[in-house]
Amino acid sequence: MTVSRRDFLGTAVVGSLSLGLLDPKGYGRVSKTNEAGSSGKLPIMISAHNGLAYLDDAYAFLASGGDTLDAALRVVKGPEDDPNDTSVGLGGLPNEEGVVELDACCMHGPTRRAGSVGGVRNIKNVSLVSKAVMNHTGHVMLVGEGAERFAVAVGFPRENLLTDHSRKIWLLWKEYHSTQDWWGPGLADPHWQAPDAKPQSELWQERFRRLEEHAADFGIAPELRQEAVHKVLFPPTGTIHCSALNTKGEVSGCTTTSGLAYKLPGRVGDSPVIGAGCYTDQDVGSAGATGSGEENIKVAGAHTIVENMRRGMSPQEAGMDTLKRIVRNYNNDMNKLRFVDMTYYVLRKDGAYAGVSLWESYEPGKPHTIAVHDGTKRSEKTVALLPGASVDFPATPRVPAEVMKEFK
Ligand code: ASP
Repeated sequence: MTVSRRDFLGTAVVGSLSLGLLDPKGYGRVSKTNEAGSSGKLPIMISAHNGLAYLDDAYAFLASGGDTLDAALRVVKGPEDDPNDTSVGLGGLPNEEGVVELDACCMHGPTRRAGSVGGVRNIKNVSLVSKAVMNHTGHVMLVGEGAERFAVAVGFPRENLLTDHSRKIWLLWKEYHSTQDWWGPGLADPHWQAPDAKPQSELWQERFRRLEEHAADFGIAPELRQEAVHKVLFPPTGTIHCSALNTKGEVSGCTTTSGLAYKLPGRVGDSPVIGAGCYTDQDVGSAGATGSGEENIKVAGAHTIVENMRRGMSPQEAGMDTLKRIVRNYNNDMNKLRFVDMTYYVLRKDGAYAGVSLWESYEPGKPHTIAVHDGTKRSEKTVALLPGASVDFPATPRVPAEVMKEFK
C-alpha cells in the first residue's frame, strides 16, 4: 500500500543525516550517469521526469530549426493537457477551496525576454499564456483574474480544470480533516466517535479504513482508491520545467505547475517567479526547479544557479551550492529539512547539464530523475546532496508502526 512507503518512524532518514552533510569540499555523491553532465551533443533538452514522454516530438522540432522556447513549451504542454497528471494544468489538484490555480513562466534567451502568470484559474495551458504575456504586453507578470482575462482576450479557451477524479480526491481530503472542521460526518452520524475515545493505533486504523470507504462512496474506482488516499495523507508536489539549447547556442526555459495541493487560495509558488522557478541567460545557460516552492523563492534558486555558472562553476556545482543555501537557511536542522524537497535542472550554454536534488528520493526507493534528450532520450538519476528520502509536508502525525504494517 502506498501509505506504508513512507517511513514515519523516521529512523532511515534521521540515521543517514550524519553522512557527509555539507562537506565543504564535496558536493554530494555523484551518480555515474550524470557525473560528466555533458554529452557534448547539441541540440539538447532537459526536463523534469514527467516531460519524458514528450521529449521526442519536441526534440525533433528543435533539431529541425524550431525555436528553443517553443521546443521547451511543447514538452511542458504535454502534462498540462494530461488530465491524469495531477500536478500540472488540467486535472491539477486544487487549492483548499477546490479550485485549480496554475502558475507558469518562460524565458527566451535569444531575445532576452520573459513572461509569467500566477494564480490563474480556468485556463489550461498557462505556459503558453506566459509566452503570450511576453509577446503581447509590455509587462512580465500577470496574476489572478487579470491574467485569466488577458488569456481569454488573446484566444485561450476558458475550461473547467477540476477533473472529476481530482475533485473526488479533494473531497476525500476535506473528509480527512473533518475532525477539525465542519466537513464530513457530524455528531448525528451513527458512526461518529469522539476522537479521544480510543487508543491512537485504533484511531489510525479506523481513519485509513474510513478514507477508503469514503473513496468508494465518492465513486473512486477500486484501483485508484489507494492512490487517492495517498494523495490525501501526503499532499503531492509536482511541476514541470524544461530547458532547451540548439546548435546555435540559443537557450530558453519554462516551468508550469498547479502548485501545492490544497494550498491557500491566492498562494503563488516559485514556478512563475523569474529567477526562482526558472531563469535563463543567453550568455550562460538555463535552470529550473521543482519542489518546495517557498524554500526555492528564498534562495532565488534558478538565478543563483545561473550566476554560479557565470562565475565558473559546473552545472552540478552550481546546483549543489544552491541546495546548500537551502540547508543553511535551516541551520542544517534535519528535523525540518527532511520536509523540504527540491530538484534543480541545470543546462549550460555549452551543453553541459546536471540534475541535482536535495534528497536522493522523493519517497523510499523512488529516486529523483531528470529527463534528457540530446539525440538519445533517457532518464537519469539526479545527483543528491543528502542520502535518503524526503517526507511530505504538511507533516502527517506519526502513524503507529503496527498500523502502517497492517494498512496494505
Ligand atoms: N514548486 C512548486 C510550487 O511550490 C511545486 C512543485 O514543484 O511540486 O508551487
